[in-house]
Amino acid sequence: MAINLLDFDAAGLTGLFAEHGERAFRARQVLRWLHRCGQVDFADMTDLARSLREKLSTLAIISPPAIVADRLGEDGTRKFLFAVGGGNAVEAVFIPEVERGTLCISTQAGCALDCSFCATGKQGFNRNLSVGEIVGQLWQVRHALGAYSGREAAGERVISNVVLMGMGEPLANLDNVIVALRLLLDDNAYGLSRRRVTVSTSGLVPAIDRLREECPVALAVSLHAPNDRLRDELVPINRKYPLSSVLAACLRYLQRAPRDFVTFEYIMLDGVNDSDAQAHELLALLREVPCKLNLIPFNPFPGTSYRRSPATRIRRFAEILLSAGVVTTTRKTRGDDIAAACGQLAGQVHDRTQRTRQYAVHLVHSGLPQ
Ligand code: SAH
Ligand code: SF4
Repeated sequence: MAINLLDFDAAGLTGLFAEHGERAFRARQVLRWLHRCGQVDFADMTDLARSLREKLSTLAIISPPAIVADRLGEDGTRKFLFAVGGGNAVEAVFIPEVERGTLCISTQAGCALDCSFCATGKQGFNRNLSVGEIVGQLWQVRHALGAYSGREAAGERVISNVVLMGMGEPLANLDNVIVALRLLLDDNAYGLSRRRVTVSTSGLVPAIDRLREECPVALAVSLHAPNDRLRDELVPINRKYPLSSVLAACLRYLQRAPRDFVTFEYIMLDGVNDSDAQAHELLALLREVPCKLNLIPFNPFPGTSYRRSPATRIRRFAEILLSAGVVTTTRKTRGDDIAAACGQLAGQVHDRTQRTRQYAVHLVHSGLPQ
């Protein structure tokens, strides 16, 4: 199989080039052509010797995942569906705002962790995405948004922030995610600041520690419950890594993090985790951890029995946290008309875990043409 150059960060590409007798600065040049310029054809990499261009075209390919659907929501949110082979598809969502443009990307086809409120989890798991498939989402969306063809010449940054909050658990695919993160941060590739790249995790403790050692970026942890009893039910991985171990990992992470707080995501589920008493319990739990809270109104999907907390309940919950001095924001639900909101990303996954059968819910449909 041909080598996909999008699978390599600077160190990897340098190693590959060395194997073929090419110097390190050549690898950097190619990295820039690939990621900064979005080049698809070796022949157009004009500052490389013709012999190198020819060598590359026999040895390697530039192969991002293909966009198979592209939908624009009423609020400007744009959802992309990518084919990743074997009938699987994953999604990325671009969220334009006045001050920034955020791209939310996927890291796995499906997810094995099976959180009870999550459309991706309910689909089951197929496989980890490769580095080229993770970074390739950004590469493709930059092409689709015109970022490679001049829009950024005037200093505009079309995609200023990247969040690994799409389909899948990034820290369950950490080898590939770390290489992808290095590309996101590399000035010869996407040149994003560590503070503008966020990994969201359901709390895989050893992987949080490894991320801290190898590539600390902004961290968001999906908490969703103020005690182990409820979290065991909502986020089953909690049975393996309970809250005390997750919070201890967060404190360790903060020693190396680019920001001085961890963001805790907390989904608002009507009558499940949204009472005043639970807000107070949450405050007590988080007393020792420098953090911000991001309340996420639950986004329903076919087959779920959860309901979103009413707006007044979410406001009251936020007020309790705010009045205790915890910075709390409530996530605006963006892109829900195109099923692009948090937890609605479903792509298309050929489940290898039998979960879809186990639950007897119908496969969540994103409503996109397949
Ligand atoms: N696996 C990672 C990242 C992907 S999920 C994680 O769990 O953090 C991204 C965010 O969407 C998480 O905070 C997740 O809990 C939240 N989410 C999942 N399903 C949701 C739903 N139906 N409505 C709102 N948010 C949801
Ligand atoms: Fe996986 Fe995150 Fe969904 Fe849980 S919320 S099933 S960890 S994608």
